[in-house]
Amino acid sequence: MNIQGKHIVVLGAGESGLGACILAKQKGAYVFLSDKGSIAPEQLVKIDELGIEWEQGSHDIPRILEADLIIKSPGIPDTVPFIIEARGKGIPVISEIEFGGYFNKAKTICITGSNGKTTTTMLTYHILKKAGLNVGLAGNVGRSFAAQVATENFDWYVIELSSFQLDGMYEFKADVAILLNITPDHLDRYDYQMANYVNSKFRIANNLDKNSWFIYNADDPIITEHLEHLEMAAQKAAFSLSKPVEVGGYLENEQLTINIKDQFTMSIHDLALKGKHNAANSLASGITARILEIRKEVLRDSLSDFVNVEHRLEFVAKVNGIEFINDSKATNVNSTWFALESMEKPTVWIVGGVDKGNDYSELMELVKEKVKAIVCLGKDNGKIIEAFKGVIPEIYEAGSANEAVAYGYRLAKKDETVLLSPACASFDLFENYEERGNEFKKAVRAL
Ligand code: ADP
Repeated sequence: MNIQGKHIVVLGAGESGLGACILAKQKGAYVFLSDKGSIAPEQLVKIDELGIEWEQGSHDIPRILEADLIIKSPGIPDTVPFIIEARGKGIPVISEIEFGGYFNKAKTICITGSNGKTTTTMLTYHILKKAGLNVGLAGNVGRSFAAQVATENFDWYVIELSSFQLDGMYEFKADVAILLNITPDHLDRYDYQMANYVNSKFRIANNLDKNSWFIYNADDPIITEHLEHLEMAAQKAAFSLSKPVEVGGYLENEQLTINIKDQFTMSIHDLALKGKHNAANSLASGITARILEIRKEVLRDSLSDFVNVEHRLEFVAKVNGIEFINDSKATNVNSTWFALESMEKPTVWIVGGVDKGNDYSELMELVKEKVKAIVCLGKDNGKIIEAFKGVIPEIYEAGSANEAVAYGYRLAKKDETVLLSPACASFDLFENYEERGNEFKKAVRAL
């Protein structure tokens, strides 16, 4: 792709926007960066170093509509009028990953799904690194892909992709594409149509050829149904927690089996990541590793010594025999389902925040089986109380992480667990899920 002398507009001055600027500038384009909000001072320093034009606080729409190419941050919806107008005029509007792909020469492993993306991305990266591959980490985690394409020389990338990033991808071709699961999320950006969201997730399989691999969840009815109607040249590998699969991997009798090239087996008790959902993530990463012909010993070691990113079923501390677990990243019902499912002791469950249209009945069986008391941590807890009153005898409301932890400590006995797994977004009481998790951990450590 030659963009020498072309006019490129980059919308959004975050990590991905700045990365796009770096690559565009390197390839000889004229770059204009526009951000409707205010640009962080440390970003401005970097932008000025690049010597590109920029604006903040508003968009100069006439100027944007003269671009040859627009690179849009995934945070900006496709429904913004000037984006529609730009597309109407035939100006390509793409994501930073698509742009990076124009110039990338490394092979890519791309990971999407409603839940488990970051965990699986980090785990896969860990395995490849431990195997000695020259590998970079990009997408939702790590540094901007485009910036790395401009400045690094990796042989492989592991890339976490959200549906919003996938929406701006057209020609990008993964070498290994992983689709972990599809459950309702972000429907507000998809006209409240599940089919639109499913199509968006399946964009990860666009352009795959017979040398690429598509790894998917064979237990997910939405995925398997969609696959039936999809022509795909790629080689397919499936993973399942419920049935043996021929090409791929599965869980049976507390053992993972991966059948790619030859057979790899490992007890789930030796896995670093606990919980069934993490067995699925470990399978997806393990299949990838075997496709790359990473040695079994290396795979075994990496699956057993991986340290997960914060706020995902993270063990915090044991205080007087009570275990505290931080799963603040569980911002939807499905991820909380897996957290509750993995609880092995009576559990005080801290739940709540900003509800994104949750149906709590999906959790009812597990709550009956595992939960002894509920602590609501949100401004409006009515829906949770309504769902579980009469089922769980003790339900309390807390207005801060400190208060929630104090309730947890009082309600749980020795050899029981206090689990923060909110099933909701955090921004009623906290800045983001990280702050919620950090305040929880701070409160636990102060006990
Ligand atoms: P994402 O990047 O897709 O948001 P994370 O790896 O950050 O996913 O995990 C988010 C939440 O989902 C955590 O609470 C975690 O325990 C849960 N989770 C992780 N993997 C899975 C999975 N395969 N299926 C369902 N829930 C999962």
